[in-house]
Amino acid sequence: MKRTLFITGASSGIGAACARLGASPETHLLLHYGRNEAGVQEVADVARTRGAEVTLLQADVGDPAAIRQMGLDASEAADPKLPLHLVNNAGIVDQKASLADLTPERLQRMFAVNVIGAILVAQQAVALMRRQNRGGAIVNVSSAAARLGSANQFMDYAASKGAIDTFTLGLADELAPEGIRVNAVRPGLIGTEIHAKGGDPDRADRLASGVPLGRVGTAEEVAETILWLLSDKAGYVTRTLVDVAGGR
Ligand code: NAD
Repeated sequence: MKRTLFITGASSGIGAACARLGASPETHLLLHYGRNEAGVQEVADVARTRGAEVTLLQADVGDPAAIRQMGLDASEAADPKLPLHLVNNAGIVDQKASLADLTPERLQRMFAVNVIGAILVAQQAVALMRRQNRGGAIVNVSSAAARLGSANQFMDYAASKGAIDTFTLGLADELAPEGIRVNAVRPGLIGTEIHAKGGDPDRADRLASGVPLGRVGTAEEVAETILWLLSDKAGYVTRTLVDVAGGR
């Protein structure tokens, strides 16, 4: 069935893997990026070679006005006859820190991007789903950190993902009467650029031996789970938090 697949943070990592694996002649991809235009262009090129139509959308998801504008741009680009699927994926981590080092500025940015940004992106996407009245599905990208807590490392990040888990439960309840399914994935240690961005490029490899499956996961493994949750094969799955964490 034809659909629009809206992915935030599609220029790298898990978002890019969702775009590559979700690309087909049956898919119109709305690929959002923040600053990495070269990255998203590369992903778009691959998607087009797989037959997908691609529209790029730029926004800082820490900026509510930019998200509103992105919603307008998405509304212009999306075919109202198609169902809309959202991968609510853009997110940040910060340098390793303990409680005493969590500054108000850091906390504000973490929650502005990971929580407020994700909620406002979902708000825009749901408005589009309602306009189309053709149904839809949402996968929020949380983290295993939401249940691990990330003491002495990224407690702020973990708390922001805890908020995403709770948001997923509430939104699933709110949208179930409209037939819109809402789930979250909670990736564990996945080999993407996010660890380098948090100042610790070797983090995932260093911690891999502590994962029951004994290795780091791939962005593609997370993307496959996300795409399954969005698909009709998961038609009876909503309000669920799926761990993709190698048993961790
Ligand atoms: P990544 O850094 O490659 O991807 C994050 C994406 O979000 C990037 O495309 C980035 O440009 C975008 N982004 C971040 N801040 C933004 C902003 N303010 N405005 C617009 N775009 C912004 O890393 P990833 O690992 O692919 O992360 C994707 C999601 O997976 C994140 O939500 C992350 O928290 C989550 N996650 C990752 C891991 C892991 O180990 N890699 C584990 C658990 C959860």
